[in-house]
Amino acid sequence: MNENRQSDPGSDVEAFVARLEALFESNGAAEYLGEPVTMADHMLQGAAVAEKSGLPATVIVAALLHDIGHLESPRRTFSMDDSHDRVHEDAGAYFLWPYLPAVVVDCVRLQVAVKRYLCATRPDYLRCLSDASIYSLQLQGGPMGEDGVAVFAREPNLEAILQVRYLDDSGKRQDMRTPPVSHFLPLVSHLAELHMRSVQDAVRE
Ligand code: FE
Repeated sequence: MNENRQSDPGSDVEAFVARLEALFESNGAAEYLGEPVTMADHMLQGAAVAEKSGLPATVIVAALLHDIGHLESPRRTFSMDDSHDRVHEDAGAYFLWPYLPAVVVDCVRLQVAVKRYLCATRPDYLRCLSDASIYSLQLQGGPMGEDGVAVFAREPNLEAILQVRYLDDSGKRQDMRTPPVSHFLPLVSHLAELHMRSVQDAVRE
């Protein structure tokens, strides 16, 4: 951890939130990636549904940022012509972990694993997936095996991970209007400040 971070988490959070805002306004956010909505709209829809449903702040923020790996790291951008998985979930989790609590990072990092878990444990789940999601599932290893399911079922943040997965699947509607990203950024900032201050306090103790 650098000295600046120890002395002023506030300025790190400010820079983080400014970076997020820029990513939502970037060219990548305007791409479609095989779905009927842009990347930005897809993530905003998930966050808007989460907020409307009264879900926890961590789930709203995780839904908002779950595909940020596609934007933060352009190599991770999915295409229906892909022949290999681009592990955008790892890129997103790596980008977010210094700023946000583990539950948010887990929802991002395990978004593919939970899809594979649900395909293995709920036979009707496959029917709610979009064509792009079914295509990427093949590249991601298909439904999880029995051993993987047993391990995944013990994930400490499983409930939030499942909620964000369902929000991900629901955020692909052409007809849905959402608030702009600026509506959600104060919540991101609040969570990041709490998290970074708690990390700083733990280091001091
Ligand atoms: Fe998504």
